[in-house]
Amino acid sequence: MPLIKSNIHTHTEFCDGRNSMEQMVQVAIKKGFETIGFSPHSFTKFDLRYCCKDFNAFRQEFMRIKTIYGDKIKLLMGIELDAYGELPKNLDYIIASVHYVKKGDNYYSVDSSKLHFENALINGFCGDKLKLAECYFDTLVKAVRTIKPDVIGHFDLLDLYGKYEGEQYKQIALTAVERLKETNSLVEINLGRCFKRMGGAYPADFIVQYMARHGFDFILSNDAHCTDALGYMFDEEVERLKTLGVNRLFYFDGTDKKQIELI
Ligand SMILES: [Zn+2]
Ligand SMILES: [Zn+2]
Repeated sequence: MPLIKSNIHTHTEFCDGRNSMEQMVQVAIKKGFETIGFSPHSFTKFDLRYCCKDFNAFRQEFMRIKTIYGDKIKLLMGIELDAYGELPKNLDYIIASVHYVKKGDNYYSVDSSKLHFENALINGFCGDKLKLAECYFDTLVKAVRTIKPDVIGHFDLLDLYGKYEGEQYKQIALTAVERLKETNSLVEINLGRCFKRMGGAYPADFIVQYMARHGFDFILSNDAHCTDALGYMFDEEVERLKTLGVNRLFYFDGTDKKQIELI
């Protein structure tokens, strides 16, 4: 059984997840989870491919599931709010994420596919990867300062297809960290890319190390889009985080934040 028995970044058929909410809950119970939080992608009117188009239906299903399984697992209703998404009311928590960079009137996805990233790079930023990074992190900082979310989602998602390296990029990323020093939001250690076998967790090691040194706190999540992803690599990642200077993790127990010391 994993040390962390909670995942609050979970997608279902209500957005771009592969499984139903009920299937996710059943597997979470089987895996010994104490909490599961659902976080559909917020509605983005300029991109309907992946977002939750009927939040009321999601809410209704959540209440139905809670009635059935509420005595076996704590269920939380959240959202993964894109910087340009719409925020519904009465939620247990908010994950704030950036999936788009905006140039003029155009929203460019940075993570839908390699092609989408290249489109953003060429048509939005004349091929300048660093300019794209500046825009991405600026969007993130502003979103976090405005929304004051419980969790900052996949801090450096742009790296999925951007494959960033080099000192200039590091400076841009760490400047964003500096600008968020006063935040009370937890930083998500997101294992979504690990499950897809496309790389390591977000944020990159140098960002986690810098954040850990500067008093940021973290929460581990799978960004699960299917039942198999729930709890995937939790224990391995905890061990790895210790080597990066992270000595405690937070998780949600009901609506409270709880802390686990990593020793
Ligand atoms: Zn996301
Ligand atoms: Zn997500």
